[in-house]
Amino acid sequence: MTYEQVSGILYPVSRIFYRSTFLIFTAYSLFMINIDKDALTARFMKYVQVDTQSDPNSNSFPTTEKQKDLSKILLEELKQMGLSDVELDEYGYVYATIPSSSDKKHVPVICFCSHVDTAPDCSGTNVKPILHKNYDGTDIVLPDDHTQVLKRSVSAYLENHIGGDIITASGNTLLGADDKAGVAIIMQAAQYLITNPETKHGLIRIVFTPDEEVGKGAAKIDIKKLGADFGYTLDGGEAGSMEDETFSADGASIIINGVIAHPGYAKDKLVNAMKIAGAVLDALPKNEWSPETTEGKQGFVHPVAINGIAEKTTIEFIVRDFTTAGLTANHERLKRIAETVVSEYKDCSMEYLQWEQYRNMKAVLDKNPQVAAYAAEAIERAGLKVKNESIRGGTDGSRLSYMGLPCPNIFTGMQNIHSKLEWIGVNDMAKAAETVVHLAMIWEEKTK
Ligand SMILES: [Zn+2]
Repeated sequence: MTYEQVSGILYPVSRIFYRSTFLIFTAYSLFMINIDKDALTARFMKYVQVDTQSDPNSNSFPTTEKQKDLSKILLEELKQMGLSDVELDEYGYVYATIPSSSDKKHVPVICFCSHVDTAPDCSGTNVKPILHKNYDGTDIVLPDDHTQVLKRSVSAYLENHIGGDIITASGNTLLGADDKAGVAIIMQAAQYLITNPETKHGLIRIVFTPDEEVGKGAAKIDIKKLGADFGYTLDGGEAGSMEDETFSADGASIIINGVIAHPGYAKDKLVNAMKIAGAVLDALPKNEWSPETTEGKQGFVHPVAINGIAEKTTIEFIVRDFTTAGLTANHERLKRIAETVVSEYKDCSMEYLQWEQYRNMKAVLDKNPQVAAYAAEAIERAGLKVKNESIRGGTDGSRLSYMGLPCPNIFTGMQNIHSKLEWIGVNDMAKAAETVVHLAMIWEEKTK
């Protein structure tokens, strides 16, 4: 066969192939959102240099005034970007609006939320972010403290970022990707939506909160002013992950009343409440039912503080489970164990107090299944596989969900959070910003 004959047969085939790939490419390019990675990186590197550590021992709000240093920067940037209703309130919350670009009247108002504060566990003063371009997969020794080494053998997720850019701190501080990654991602997505008005979306609200790391992120949020129907926090880990389930959480106190007497004349009279408290703690199971022996969907009880004198001693607990029934069972078991111990001591008594801390957001999200479903679709449109995860803890989203704003948590890419080895991949942040844009578009698309 001559060359011409061969190509004569192949030409129509290759033409069909070319056309179908063209169609596939066109369909995919409809979903293509080009996030400016350099701008996103610059934004993130700027935000992490602002010290915004929150303080669990402070009673003021925000718990540290310095958190507002970043809030003020965000305020100015949002104004410059051209967003509406840009506001920083006295508590440090930043609110802003991206006006609707759609003709549709009934697109639900969606909110994107992240927190400006960093964890009290590790210094956030003088953070020096380092951009490692084209990460080559080798271990990274942080320059300001050579004992801090980021290793692939320990942080396996580094594998996914070989050839991409990653950002670390310099060795003396955390990086603060938790949650300045979330802040930078939302800001970059807002920039995209504002500068690409052909991208159709409804009214979008943005809120940046203080004090998430000390459990007060939703405390002073003005839900009415926010005026959103559904929300998403950008405060998660690996690319593609979405968390729509958290612990349900209670606190509990066991107050033990002993019998006091002058120690010199206490024979057969005095019963020391502190010693009973020790016996109660010793009676707790050793190989189960504690944070150090559970994982996945298992709950636990965890003594967090003990205070007292011989006459009266209080043990404080946190109680966790994924279901309310499980939480109730945990309380009953803890109370039973304590009562059994205390009953062995003559003339002593105990009280058991319990109170609600937060509830699993899943109960709220199950009533609004589109919230998580659209997030999953947005993640897929960004070209990622969805990983549904449960948080063995709470988020601002748990509280927001019960304040009337169903609010799952979406990935940012942050890794090794609350530590000097914290790092993040730029590609993950860009994918998260893409996901935010897709989400805004999906809510508009699905509205009739
Ligand atoms: Zn966080």
